[in-house]
Amino acid sequence: MRTCKRNPACHPERSVAESKDPVALSSISQRDSSTSLGMTKNMYRTHDCNSLRKSDIGKQVRLAGWVHVLRDHGGVIFIDLRDREGLTQVVFRPEENAEVAKEAHTLRSEDVIEISGRVAARVPGTENPRLATGDIEVIPNRLRILNRADALPFPIDAEVHNEDLRMTYRYYDLRRPQLSRNLRVRHRVAKATRDYLDSQGYVEVETPILSKSTPEGARDFLVPSRLTPGKFYALPQAPQQYKQLLMVAGVEKYFQIARCFRDEDLRADRQPEFTQIDIEASFVTPDDIFAITEGMLAAIFKAARNVDIKTPFDRLTYREAINRYGSDKPDRRFGVQLVDLSDDFRASGFKVFRNAVDSGGVIKAINATGFAGITTGQIEELTETAKLFGAKGLAFIKIENGEWKSPIVKFFSDGEKAALQSKLRIEEGDLILFGADRWETACEVLGRIRLRVAEIQKLTPTSEVWDFLWVTDFPLLQWSVEENKWNAMHHPFTRPKADDVPLFDAKKFGEIRAEAYDVVLNGVEIGGGSMRIHESELQEKMFEALGIRSEDRQSLFGHLLRALRLGAPPHGGIALGLDRLVMLVCGEDTIRDVMAFPKNNRGLDLMTQSPAEVDPRQLRDLSIKLTGEKKSG
Ligand code: ASP
Repeated sequence: MRTCKRNPACHPERSVAESKDPVALSSISQRDSSTSLGMTKNMYRTHDCNSLRKSDIGKQVRLAGWVHVLRDHGGVIFIDLRDREGLTQVVFRPEENAEVAKEAHTLRSEDVIEISGRVAARVPGTENPRLATGDIEVIPNRLRILNRADALPFPIDAEVHNEDLRMTYRYYDLRRPQLSRNLRVRHRVAKATRDYLDSQGYVEVETPILSKSTPEGARDFLVPSRLTPGKFYALPQAPQQYKQLLMVAGVEKYFQIARCFRDEDLRADRQPEFTQIDIEASFVTPDDIFAITEGMLAAIFKAARNVDIKTPFDRLTYREAINRYGSDKPDRRFGVQLVDLSDDFRASGFKVFRNAVDSGGVIKAINATGFAGITTGQIEELTETAKLFGAKGLAFIKIENGEWKSPIVKFFSDGEKAALQSKLRIEEGDLILFGADRWETACEVLGRIRLRVAEIQKLTPTSEVWDFLWVTDFPLLQWSVEENKWNAMHHPFTRPKADDVPLFDAKKFGEIRAEAYDVVLNGVEIGGGSMRIHESELQEKMFEALGIRSEDRQSLFGHLLRALRLGAPPHGGIALGLDRLVMLVCGEDTIRDVMAFPKNNRGLDLMTQSPAEVDPRQLRDLSIKLTGEKKSG
């Protein structure tokens, strides 16, 4: 049902939760003490561009910033002067100061200027209530051009859909108020995180960026070593092993705002490097990790959005989540749930359903209430989705004019119809959609359809809802058909539930549950973690289940296995995807919009043109010979 889930920052699929408008700039205060410009004794300015008010009228001030918009009204030049904090209108009138007004005529958008002048009331009727400085304007007696801007790559105050262009000129793109706001929200989230964890006794420890390649889920980025030719460092996929080793070191409560690197295909909203809020603690149970995470998220939402989120969060086991929502990161902002009908169709005359149950599968359905008017095109689209996730087709019933319209209804007995009626609370105008398959497939297919139906029917509330949820008891291992082996669903250091440890010897790997959990917000996984294995024998069992040969265990994980034998305390932790969290806080729909310098969806940094070829001498130093083959990108 899912591939390796080591990546709370990155999801291949886009959920409905992510497709909303960015939060209005005004709903997040632009000012706070931690980020105001602090104007004491500044050479260039006495105020920022968002501070002058009616009470300042008559004052002599100095402002500096960028020419945001310039309007020439018959010789009178109006400039919206912009800095990080906002806009102030500056008016050059030839009759007030002909020389300065003449120079102002040479200005272009994004020129950098400093002006000195007098604060004046705007002409009555021309006030701008949408601007904090909208009651006043500044009449300059001095203009200093600090730097000119060339022709601009794109207008700063318009929507620009060419993202590659935006990325090429990212330093310019970041001047846009929305992105500038996002960077500051990100700062505030990071600060609230540090302050909160510090208040709880957590210590921030940096761990190496040059680390070791071990099979942990994703592909590593490798760094060749010049000093030991032929050997490689790996960039950390996450500081997982280091943070566990810090527990062996007696740090007890660790955190880090940590950069992680994974060399994965960049489908959808992924980045090769991203940031995690990484946490680990000793002598804890999952409840302790839940409490610290909830407290931290509450502090973050208070600091960044002034929202009081509800804690403690609800909890669902993985099995319940899949059974009810067909997803391990359920979006519960709309009510539709999967209903199990397997018992009702065990002896059905409808062969497709009976066969599914006979072969150990399930019959599940959802009631898309009021959606009987679905178009043929939409049914086709949903059927394609069902097939994409492994179903053979998509059975449905429309309830229209008191009639159950569907080619399959004729096979149903009265008892089956009555069961459907009562379990799905069917009413006129409803649409029933079925899944009949292996449990995993039927649930996943209906889970996907549930999300798509919610999207089409616009079921997600338009007002802000912050639905946090813990999903617990994930399976420890997952069978990979492609690799023909068991893989860790989370990572190889995840602790199995005590009751399930005997299943290792019984080789019932698929039934072992992990002491692992995810935290979900509005249908998006924002973090995940687990209790860890702290005994070397159990860790060996886990490696064995993963098919790692004992000689490889020593060469790859010898350090960890040794550490576990030197007094490793029980420990556990969690990591939250900072980029994704900030994206949700800001109401953006891509993590690129909350990162200063992201790569594009091909992993390229278009601004610096990286990755790039290097000097042959650098390669020689590293004992690297290129084969001359180039993979087309
Ligand atoms: N290191 C894990 C990850 O990156 C999170 C954790 O288990 O704490 O997914």
